[in-house]
Amino acid sequence: MRAILHCDLNNFFASVEMLKRPELRNVPMAVSGDPSKRHGIILAKNQVAKKYGIYTPETVYSALKKCPRLVLVKPHYEEYVKYSKLVNEIYRKYTDRVEKFGIDESFLDVTESTNIFGSPYDIAYKIKEEIKEKYNLTISVGVSFTKSLAKLGSDLKKPDAITVLDYDTYKNKIYGLPVNMLLYVGKNTNDKLKKLGIKTIGDLALSNKYRVVKHLGKLGEQIHNYANGIDDDPVKFYYEKEERKSISKGITFEEDITNIESLENEFSKLASSVSFSLRKLNMKANVVSITLKDATFSSIVRQKKIDYTSAYDVIYNDVSDLLKCNYINGKPIRYICVGVSGLKGKDDDEQLNIFSIVNEDKNKVKTIQKKEKATQAMDNLKRIYGNKIDFASTIEIKKD
Ligand SMILES: [Mg+2]
Repeated sequence: MRAILHCDLNNFFASVEMLKRPELRNVPMAVSGDPSKRHGIILAKNQVAKKYGIYTPETVYSALKKCPRLVLVKPHYEEYVKYSKLVNEIYRKYTDRVEKFGIDESFLDVTESTNIFGSPYDIAYKIKEEIKEKYNLTISVGVSFTKSLAKLGSDLKKPDAITVLDYDTYKNKIYGLPVNMLLYVGKNTNDKLKKLGIKTIGDLALSNKYRVVKHLGKLGEQIHNYANGIDDDPVKFYYEKEERKSISKGITFEEDITNIESLENEFSKLASSVSFSLRKLNMKANVVSITLKDATFSSIVRQKKIDYTSAYDVIYNDVSDLLKCNYINGKPIRYICVGVSGLKGKDDDEQLNIFSIVNEDKNKVKTIQKKEKATQAMDNLKRIYGNKIDFASTIEIKKD
């Protein structure tokens, strides 16, 4: 059985700001984007601000309503990156399997380290104290035998705490918790589970797996396994290169957009930018997705499987289809995003084509190849004339 830690820096951005300005420790304070802009959002808050019910991410406007004397501080990302590196260096003294999971979180596999440094709990304790002593920052640690349970553990007690979820006791400790505390159970998934009568982690663990899979697909299988302590995802080595699995581009509007024509226009720019990035990386994708968020940050994500491509035309047509099927005209939209995933390098892709062309509609393949040629030509023009030139205004190329 593995010994895995999930280490989470507490109120990270706010804590770093308080290192520079200790007087902020005793007042309600939050790190936020520009307070004068509507997309000013609370990025982190200290313990005092937490008592006012301020959460992340909520708007500055709403946070100030709850606590008018809230002190707002602008973020200093270079500082956060610096401290993140220093803290990860401490982790790496105990194991070379340290996988960053965001700027303030890391997974550590300490299975092999227990001979030298003591039990997994002892290691967690040593790390926690060393970070406190050296940098005056606190962490919460989850100790368990899978990554997903370690991650859950670090959420159970904070700040400055350790929670052990071992094989013999984890069921008692987690079955009663709300299911959305589990990794990857976001709002949409939580809603779907609720419809199946699943509210707690225990409900999920003891539910019929096939029923969950039927309604939630692959993610359903994954979270059902998580709830049952099944998760063999390894902790990566610190320098292991994360393979590029997706590309996305998004935009937040200064003012909500409420009609489909303007959204199409914005989506077209994002699709163009995503397809340009794909071609720069010499890759193709076979899944296209769109995200639409309204002012309350509730979002819908829709995706579609397509034939491997990097062509703007193909990507934009699918984006446009997804938009038409999922947008009700008039609904105010604040943020949109275009993503592509299922990425393959050009070499993999050519191999794949040998097999797929035989069975697929040959005309369709030809059309896609043609579009790709057009896109390549456009890239060359872009290199000469800059980004001003684009498909949106190039009618001839839009025709096949
Ligand atoms: Mg954190």
